[in-house]
Amino acid sequence: MKRVALITGASRGIGRGIALELAKTGWHLVINYAGNAAAASQTAADCLAAAQAGGHAIQTATCQADISISADRARLLDFTYTTFGRLDLLVNNAGVAPNVRADILEASEESFDRLININVKGPYFLTQLAARRMLEQVAQAPEEPRPRIVTISSISAYTASTNRGDYCIAKAALAMLTPLYASRLADSGINVYEIRPGVIATDMTGPVREKYDKLISEGLTPIPRWGTPADVGKAVVAIALDLLPFSTGEVLNVDGGFHLRRL
Ligand code: NAP
Repeated sequence: MKRVALITGASRGIGRGIALELAKTGWHLVINYAGNAAAASQTAADCLAAAQAGGHAIQTATCQADISISADRARLLDFTYTTFGRLDLLVNNAGVAPNVRADILEASEESFDRLININVKGPYFLTQLAARRMLEQVAQAPEEPRPRIVTISSISAYTASTNRGDYCIAKAALAMLTPLYASRLADSGINVYEIRPGVIATDMTGPVREKYDKLISEGLTPIPRWGTPADVGKAVVAIALDLLPFSTGEVLNVDGGFHLRRL
């Protein structure tokens, strides 16, 4: 049976890693991006190749949409249903870091608004739109596997970094999305999850690579290495394959054990 995932911010980084892992298991994909069409096309081509190597014939479609803009969110959902006729997995992945890491005594309101709009308002209202469509889908075909929703937050939801307070506040707010939608959708069989990545090697962490190299070598994470987009992608696949059927509102830490308290 055809299963369709919509991944926001799948042109690069973690979203791309999620797309590749889902492609390997035969999922059809909507690859959303904000501005980098070439990267999105590359991800789509690489997903087709990865699926083919695993013996799966999948379809991919790319769609530009800025998740912080209401009309773009509606267009993205319409595109998904027009192209594939269904949605089985929404992955709220797209997010941004502050353009400038500034001390919380100096950081601007403009940066705060940008991060709240993209990292919180975007996924919150995209989930609202997707959930409405998923409920219709469930009502029309109750015998089919139930859709799933997963949101990529961050260890910054509970870790204070005083040079990017706006990012931490946004991720802490985003962490409430999952308990809310998990509670609202549970009786319809739609499970909702949060994945909380640690330090993952992407463009976002490029500017702080040396700093984190040093911290990891000094023991920042019990598993002493950088995380990869594929690490996050494999956790999403576990959800897509419904390996956690009696869990909803659950947080999966994909952080090399960063969250452990040690003595
Ligand atoms: P990245 O490499 O900078 O990639 C960001 C992706 O999001 C790109 O595909 C980008 O599209 C897209 N995007 C940005 N703004 C968007 C918008 N307004 N609407 C739609 N798409 C948008 O970032 P990443 O490191 O993969 O991060 C992905 C997610 O994981 C983010 O939510 C981030 O906060 C979270 N995270 C990252 C880390 C880490 O260590 N890297 C750790 C924890 C959590 P374009 O290519 O078109 O620009």
